[in-house]
Amino acid sequence: MKEPIITVIGSINMDLVTSSDRIPDQGETIMGESFFNNPGGKGANQAVACARLGAQVNMLGCVGVDPFGQVLVDNLSKEKIITQNVEPVTDKHTGVATILIKDNDNRIIVTPGANYCVTPTYIQQYLDVIDQSDVVLLQLEIPLNTIEYVTDYCSDKGIPVILNPAPAQLLSASILENCTYLTPNETEKLEITSDVDTYKEKMIVTLGDKGVEYCSDGNLKTVTGYRVNPIDTTGAGDTFNGALAVQLSKGRKLKEAITFANAAAAFSIQKRGAQQGMPTMREVIDFME
Ligand code: ATP
Repeated sequence: MKEPIITVIGSINMDLVTSSDRIPDQGETIMGESFFNNPGGKGANQAVACARLGAQVNMLGCVGVDPFGQVLVDNLSKEKIITQNVEPVTDKHTGVATILIKDNDNRIIVTPGANYCVTPTYIQQYLDVIDQSDVVLLQLEIPLNTIEYVTDYCSDKGIPVILNPAPAQLLSASILENCTYLTPNETEKLEITSDVDTYKEKMIVTLGDKGVEYCSDGNLKTVTGYRVNPIDTTGAGDTFNGALAVQLSKGRKLKEAITFANAAAAFSIQKRGAQQGMPTMREVIDFME
C-alpha cells in the first residue's frame, strides 16, 4: 500500500530545559540543578510522530540561520521527514521554549522567532505540496492568519485538515468551519470557542489518562485511556495528533483512528522526552494486543 502523505505546517523549536529546587523570585538569580536541550515545537513533534508511524511527511516551517536551526532540521531529516521547504530566515532566531522545572511543576515561555515567518506568503510557494497531501496537520504556534489561509484553501480543495488548537486561543468562525477535525484537550476546548455545541461533531477531545471523547451521529462516545506507568507525558498530545493523522490519511474510520491514536499516545509517555517515546507502527500494534 502507498504511504499516506501528510503535510505538517507548524513550529520547530529547541526546548531549553532547566531544573532547580525552586523557582527564582523577581530579580533573583539562583543556581540550577540540571540542564538539557531537546528538539521540540508542536509542529516538529507531530511531524516526527507521523514519520515514525510510516507516513511520508512534508514539513513546512521556518527556522533561523543559527546552530539550533541546523540541528533541528537535521533531526527532522534523520526521521525521514522531507525538510527541503523548511525555510531558514536571516532576521529571526530559531524558535525556543524556555522550560523551568521544579519537581513536577513546569513553567514554559515559548518565543516563536522564525515560526512567525510561516506566513500565508510563505505557504503560497508550496501549494503544490499541500495539493498532494492526504491530510494537513496544523497547531497554533504559527500566525493565526496562516491557519485561516490554510484551512480556507484546504476546504476549497477538499483536503482534510486536523487542527490541534494548542496553545489555545479564540478561533474565528471560518477556521472552525473550514477545518475537518479539532483536537483540543479539555481546557483548550473551552478556550477556542464559546459555542462548543455548534462544532461538537468535529471535536475530538483528549482527556489525559481518561482517554478521548468524541461525537458520532450526535452521540457522545468515549475511548477509555490505557493504564500505563507515565514517565513523561510531555508530547502525549503531539503523538495523539500524529497518529490520528496517519490513520485518517489511510482512510481508517474515525473510531478506529482514535482508538489507535489513544494507544500510540499512551505508549509514548512511558519514555522521557516528547519525541523519544514516539512509537513505530509495530510498537503500537504490539501494545494494543
Ligand atoms: P500534552 O500537552 O502533555 O502533550 P495534551 O494536554 O495535549 O498533552 P492529553 O489529553 O493530556 O493532551 O493527552 C493526549 C492523549 O495522550 C490522551 O487522550 C491519551 O490518549 C494519552 N494520555 C495522556 N496522558 C495519559 C496517561 N496518564 N495515561 C494514559 N494515556 C494518556
